[in-house]
Amino acid sequence: MILIDGKKAAADLREELKKEVLSLKDKHNKVPGLTVILIGDLAPSQIYVRNKEKSANEVGLKSEVIRYPDSVEESEVLKKIDELNNDDSVSGILVQLPLPKHIDKQKVIEAILPEKDVDGFHPMNVGNLSSGYESSIPCTPLGCYLLIKKIEPNLNGKKAVIVGRSNLNGKPMTQLLLKENCTVTITHSKTNDLKSECLKGDIIVAAVGIPELVKGDWIKKDAIVIDVGINKTENGLVGDVAFDEVSKVAKALTPVPGGVGPMTIACLLKNTIECFKRNLGD
Ligand code: NAD
Repeated sequence: MILIDGKKAAADLREELKKEVLSLKDKHNKVPGLTVILIGDLAPSQIYVRNKEKSANEVGLKSEVIRYPDSVEESEVLKKIDELNNDDSVSGILVQLPLPKHIDKQKVIEAILPEKDVDGFHPMNVGNLSSGYESSIPCTPLGCYLLIKKIEPNLNGKKAVIVGRSNLNGKPMTQLLLKENCTVTITHSKTNDLKSECLKGDIIVAAVGIPELVKGDWIKKDAIVIDVGINKTENGLVGDVAFDEVSKVAKALTPVPGGVGPMTIACLLKNTIECFKRNLGD
């Protein structure tokens, strides 16, 4: 079985991006800039944002974090986004989710210019992705896609089963694999007989948030299995896939941690660079 090394894939991608930033700097005399807005002091968000900043600096991006207390007014956040939309040194804007209850998530997402939406959540980018046009692509599914392509460059006609239909993961994952000519089934909490759906998949992507939901006997022999889940349990972090069982059947499998997670941040940097290039018509 191939253990898909997301840490290594992400390090390789960051190396490529570092070179690209240097050549963009040579050509345009400026570097792509990523601005992250962080509201409140939720521990996981603090950790994610710190890692994003560290990785952005590592590849040579200009990076900035704007912090607000939990109590910040929605209007103040929207005003800041408007400022950043009009700031030429900012290529990408990310508002770290989740937001406090009094702030309307969709309003915030739609306030970011689609051209600077490095998360790919703006309806314009969602629509462009589903129509097969150029767009920002949500970072986690983009990372999964790049890992799958490393194992199997030609996905023509493969049967893919996506477990979970979130806007963040399942739906964009479906679009990316459709574009690669996979036959895609998207499953969710109301799917009848999830096991028999999964058994048809040459590729399985699990993004649910239930520890070890996907079992060994749900997996077709030699399938590629991508585990997006990150679940805290008393035995530490585990994915949505029962790793020990599935590793005996699959051709390739991502571990948790060290699989999809590292690729998510590397893809955020990639998206920032793509926004910079697109905005300059490069
Ligand atoms: P979500 O809660 O928004 O969506 C979960 C989806 O799973 C829903 O579509 C729901 O229908 C489906 N579902 C729920 N119970 C099910 C069941 N019994 N059978 C089949 N489907 C079921 O979650 P999300 O934001 O997509 O995140 C999913 C997981 O991925 C979480 O563990 C999250 O922490 C993790 N995650 C990881 C990364 C990363 O970088 N690795 C990034 C984002 C999210």
